Amino acid sequence: METFDVIVIGGSVAGAPTAMLLARQGHKVLLIDKSVFPRDTNSTHFIWPRGVSYLNRWGVAGPILEQTPHFRNMEVCVEGISLYGAVPLDDLKARFRRLHGDDKGVIDHYCGPRRYFLDSHLLNCAKQAGVTVREGVSYRAPILEGGRVCGIVAVGDDGRELQARAKLVIGADGRFSKFVKDVGARDTDVRPLSTFAYFGYFSGIDKQELAIHKRGRFGTAIFPTLDNTHMVLVYGPTACWDDFKHNPEQNFLDIYRFCAPDVAAQIEQAERTEPFKAMARMEAFQRDSTGPGWALVGDAGSFKDQVTAMGITHAFRDAELISTYIHRALEGEFSLDVGLQQYRAVRAADYTDYFDFVCKTAEMNNYSVDDLKYFYSIRNNQAAIDQVMSQFGDTLPLSDGKNFPLLPATEYPHFVQHFDPTRYPGKFPLSPALRRELAAA
Ligand SMILES: Cc1cc2nc3c(=O)[nH]c(=O)nc-3n(C[C@H](O)[C@H](O)[C@H](O)COP(=O)(O)OP(=O)(O)OC[C@H]3O[C@@H](n4cnc5c(N)ncnc54)[C@H](O)[C@@H]3O)c2cc1C
Repeated sequence: METFDVIVIGGSVAGAPTAMLLARQGHKVLLIDKSVFPRDTNSTHFIWPRGVSYLNRWGVAGPILEQTPHFRNMEVCVEGISLYGAVPLDDLKARFRRLHGDDKGVIDHYCGPRRYFLDSHLLNCAKQAGVTVREGVSYRAPILEGGRVCGIVAVGDDGRELQARAKLVIGADGRFSKFVKDVGARDTDVRPLSTFAYFGYFSGIDKQELAIHKRGRFGTAIFPTLDNTHMVLVYGPTACWDDFKHNPEQNFLDIYRFCAPDVAAQIEQAERTEPFKAMARMEAFQRDSTGPGWALVGDAGSFKDQVTAMGITHAFRDAELISTYIHRALEGEFSLDVGLQQYRAVRAADYTDYFDFVCKTAEMNNYSVDDLKYFYSIRNNQAAIDQVMSQFGDTLPLSDGKNFPLLPATEYPHFVQHFDPTRYPGKFPLSPALRRELAAA
């Protein structure tokens, strides 16, 4: 049986960088994935500047940025109040220094590379770093000794069994992880309320940068990706999915027209280049991320709703954190168990507030009058807008924001003073009468 320092199960955005970073530091790493790459996934693929910074500091961002449109500024438009700004570079550098001890390679660009491209690129980088990669090989069971994980049993697409031993096995096999069940990792926080997501790819849209529009309990997002196409997404509470799915293509357009009529007009003129993709529910969880001889990274350790597009960035964070602590443990600075405890504690401290924020945002509740007053008050204040982008993009910690002043009561327009979300539709498909009414609003 072959022996490694570390085995990684899953070679996607969490597993491939984890394996790559460990191999670069001289460790013998096996990575298995049940898929053969390139392959696509049922996920959009926006990467915040914090995530792109990881790619850049690892020296692997080049091909991604060469082929994918990338920007600094973005628009977030709430009930017609447009906020246009960027995540400040200083916030990014501060977050990296605090978490990783330096700000090497930090940049303030975001981008949205297709997953068939991003994931294959990262897996190739792992191979180049010296990782032994086995594609088309599925994890089946852990090898246990005295209650400690010390290897895996896996099986290839050709039916051949593979057994391997290691000091540490890392589960990077996604939110439906089998490894998690086998090692008995406990859920510590479960949030059932989530969004549904429905998205497609369109050519012929002339629009740069990310634009998010939110109105009532629905939202939309659009950004340019590879091959002159745009990723176009609508989302809303999962409770609306059953209505939505009866006529999804019509409801897709209706939600876009409802949230962002100008963008919807462009989408109607554009050509869809492949079938729509859909995800009905995304229950969030956090769970124990380490145990004797094992650890979890990426969605296997914690999954959360797509609503803030943060899974890939957090997968990269996990990869850098675990590879740092495990390298130090394998070098003898402290024991493997201490390394695992440190990974777990540092990751949790970086994450818990933002996880809660994502889960609350994913409930897709209507904004309040006070929310709108705040957005209206800051709409011409660049520092305040950038703070919103920075916190939304998990760069400035939520607890570190400044308070910006509200306008005096007399200065709000009628729609802010008298904002009444109860007139909005809670269900789809829209009746023709309601569609006419919204178009006129
Ligand atoms: C609808 C939707 C939209 C999203 N949009 C965004 C977004 O815009 N931006 C963003 O940052 N995040 C987004 N996310 C989240 C993002 O997709 C995930 O957080 C990210 O893919 C997690 O990466 P991972 O490597 O942990 O897991 P995964 O990407 O799920 O990869 C797991 C890997 O493990 C392999 N595997 C599974 N089981 C086995 C097994 N038994 N043996 C061997 N291999 C196995 C799989 O083949 C796969 O390659 C979205 C998610 C959804 C559902």
